Amino acid sequence: MTLEKKNQNDKLSSELDRSFDIKYDFSNKPIIRIKNTNSNNGKNELLNLLKNKIHSIKDCRLKSNAKNMVFADGDISSDIMIVGEGPGEKEDDSGKPFTGDAGKLLNKMLAAIKLNRNRIYISNVVNYRPPNNRKPELDEIDRYSVFLKEHISIIDPKILILMGSTAMESLFGNKIKISKERGKWKEIIIHNKTYLSIITFHPAYLLRQPEQKKFSWSDLKIIKKKIDELKIKI
Ligand code: URA
Repeated sequence: MTLEKKNQNDKLSSELDRSFDIKYDFSNKPIIRIKNTNSNNGKNELLNLLKNKIHSIKDCRLKSNAKNMVFADGDISSDIMIVGEGPGEKEDDSGKPFTGDAGKLLNKMLAAIKLNRNRIYISNVVNYRPPNNRKPELDEIDRYSVFLKEHISIIDPKILILMGSTAMESLFGNKIKISKERGKWKEIIIHNKTYLSIITFHPAYLLRQPEQKKFSWSDLKIIKKKIDELKIKI
């Protein structure tokens, strides 16, 4: 029994390592060059209003130490939204989420389940880089969760992928453990609408703890299965 489990994990782990090494992702799908502006129904305006609200935040330890606001990246009409923790140094410089090493791993993880990062919407719990890349504190997570919830309800995704414990805590509180909660579909009500979410490990954690990649690979396969079931076009 234990032996079987171990072999299963070893298999997942090597599958994951192989998949994360994908260099190219060829697809016969036509490239959609013209966006359906109708489906963006006022999203751009709402996102700009939200950006302004975040920009006007006062007495924030994060904002006062950061160079740039890091709002989001990707396709605003995507059915998939990823939430990370907060910007690091590269993101603070570029103003875009997940542009450093964790971002490179994230891109490989997405490619491993045939997802193109540009077709997904990506944001973070906090929009300013925490000093010395520390984890955002509880009061900061709470304060920014109001913005995150508004952000989610504007994007209105079919699937919400919460990467890491900060993203989990922002929406589910800090009484639960990521090691127990990852890889399960969970419903969450935001602004009176129920969203389907899943918690998984953060790519930066996987860079520090590569032996955990087997769990991440298992979560990615669960996510891919749901995307296929819901017939989400990516
Ligand atoms: N880690 C995150 O959680 N978000 C980023 O944008 C970059 C690194």
